[in-house]
Order: sequence, then structure tokens, then C-alpha cells
Amino acid sequence: MPDKYTAVWVSHSSIGDFIKCPRSYYLHNMYKDPKTGHKVSIVTPHMSLGIAVHEVLEGLADFPAESRMNRDLLALYEAEWKKVSGKKGGFLNDEEEMGFKARGTVMLEKVMSDPRFLVNKCIKLPQDKMPCNFYLSEEHNIILNGLVDWIEYLPETNSLHIVDFKTGKNEEKDGSLQLPIYILLVSALQNRKVTKASYWYLESDKMIEKELPNADTARRDVLAVAMKVKDARDTAKRDGPEKTFICPAGAYDVVTKEGGCINCRPYEFILNGDSAVEFVGVGGFSQDMYVMKR
Ligand code: SF4
Repeated sequence: MPDKYTAVWVSHSSIGDFIKCPRSYYLHNMYKDPKTGHKVSIVTPHMSLGIAVHEVLEGLADFPAESRMNRDLLALYEAEWKKVSGKKGGFLNDEEEMGFKARGTVMLEKVMSDPRFLVNKCIKLPQDKMPCNFYLSEEHNIILNGLVDWIEYLPETNSLHIVDFKTGKNEEKDGSLQLPIYILLVSALQNRKVTKASYWYLESDKMIEKELPNADTARRDVLAVAMKVKDARDTAKRDGPEKTFICPAGAYDVVTKEGGCINCRPYEFILNGDSAVEFVGVGGFSQDMYVMKR
């Protein structure tokens, strides 16, 4: 019988970290501060904007389709923004914060003026305290977990349209495993077929429909990376993380303070107690949150 507590849990973000580099994966997903026992995380204004806008939009799925858009999205946004306001949201000062907040307001105003499929029926995947999850491989004790932003129900075909809200300016790269992971999650956790997938770029208000990945290919590709993650974690148990999760390109040097890249340097600062980062509180998943001093 597989044991969820000893399983390797993978998600779109942890797999993305591992693909970038194994050390980035270690820093973002495994390292725990020996003093607090908590994982660590860097908060940025972009992340805070994304969280506040996502919370407003995803929260709409709790209301009936007919009355969903009667809700005051900007008032909901105001309430969500309070949770990320100030230093804990990674904002340097009021001016920077107001600039990011205004971007979210414009995104939601565009949604209100053309809510597209938000007025149609949607479904939610079963979920308890953990994000939606299922066994990607019982044999290897690997669980895939994640949250799909929105799942529209398409009555004509009794099928589903999965949608990812994008608050950043960058378009998802070709070859990203995001859609394959969503297809696997949705297919494993309910019975209807996914027949459509889109990214909604909220800032430019552009919907981009994506070609649906084949489910078998998706499983093969995601499992291939997940197996590498599991192997690396097993090796780390034997050899230690410092010898296992190695930078393939000019690691940060704690003595000279040189090297590293945007994905790891702030985390290396945390590990080394560098004054370039500042602790701003404990997050919702009991992770120690830091901001980069700028
Ligand atoms: S500098 Fe090296 S360790 Fe840091 S994220 Fe880039 S590749 Fe990984």
C-alpha cells in the first residue's frame, strides 16, 4: 500500500524548478531552515499581484454561474490586496505598491467588461487541505499535485475547457509541462474529457487557445522528470543535498558573493544569513518568507 506521507510530491512549479537546475529545486522545495524547521520563500511584487488577482477570479467558481458576475470584483480585490500589502508583499515603498495594485485593478476591470466564459458553468476538482493530487505512479510512490485556475463545463460536448490565468507579461514557453500536468490532474480526478485548453493573459486581455497535449505523451513526459526528481532525492539521502543538487552553471560563492543567478541567489542569501534579504513573516504553508532588499 503506497504511503502519501513518504511519497515524492511533484507539481508544475517544483518540476519547473528541477528542469531549470537541481539546486534551484533543492532551494525552493526541500531546504528547511535548521532553526525554524520551515521551508523558505522569496516574496516579490509580481508574485503578490498574481496571488491577489488569482484569489479574486478563482473565488468566483464558488458562486452560481448566473449570479457570479454580480459580485463586486474590485471590493474583493481590495480585501485580497490587504493580505499582500506592504513589505510582506515584497513592495519597496507605497509608490511601487500602488503601481502593481493598479495593474491588477485594470486587469479586473477588463474581466468585468468582458467576463467571457466566467459566466458559464464550471466545475471544481475534489480537494481537501492539500492541493488536488493523485498518484502519478504508485509503483514509484510519486504524487502529482496542483491547482487548475478554472475549469469551464462545455454542455454541448459534456466536456471541459481548462483555463490558466496569467498576470505576468511573459507568455508560457513552448514545451512547458503546465498543460500536460493540468490534463493529467483533471483526467485523474473527474470523469469528463478535456477538449480545450487556454491561457488568459489578463494584462493584454488576450485568450490564447493551446493545442491539447496527448494524455499518454503528457504522462510519459511528466513521469520522466518526476522520476529524475525522485532519483535525486534518493541520492541526496545517501550523499547529502550539497553533493546531489549541484549548479550546472557557475554556482553562488559564499566567500566572494559572486556567481549564482536570479533563480538561486536570493535563496543562497537566506541560507547564508546575508543582510541582502530580510525576513518578513511566516506564510500560509508555514514557510519563512523573505524579501530582497533593493
Ligand atoms: S546559478 Fe546555478 S544553482 Fe543557481 S539557479 Fe542558476 S543554474 Fe541553478
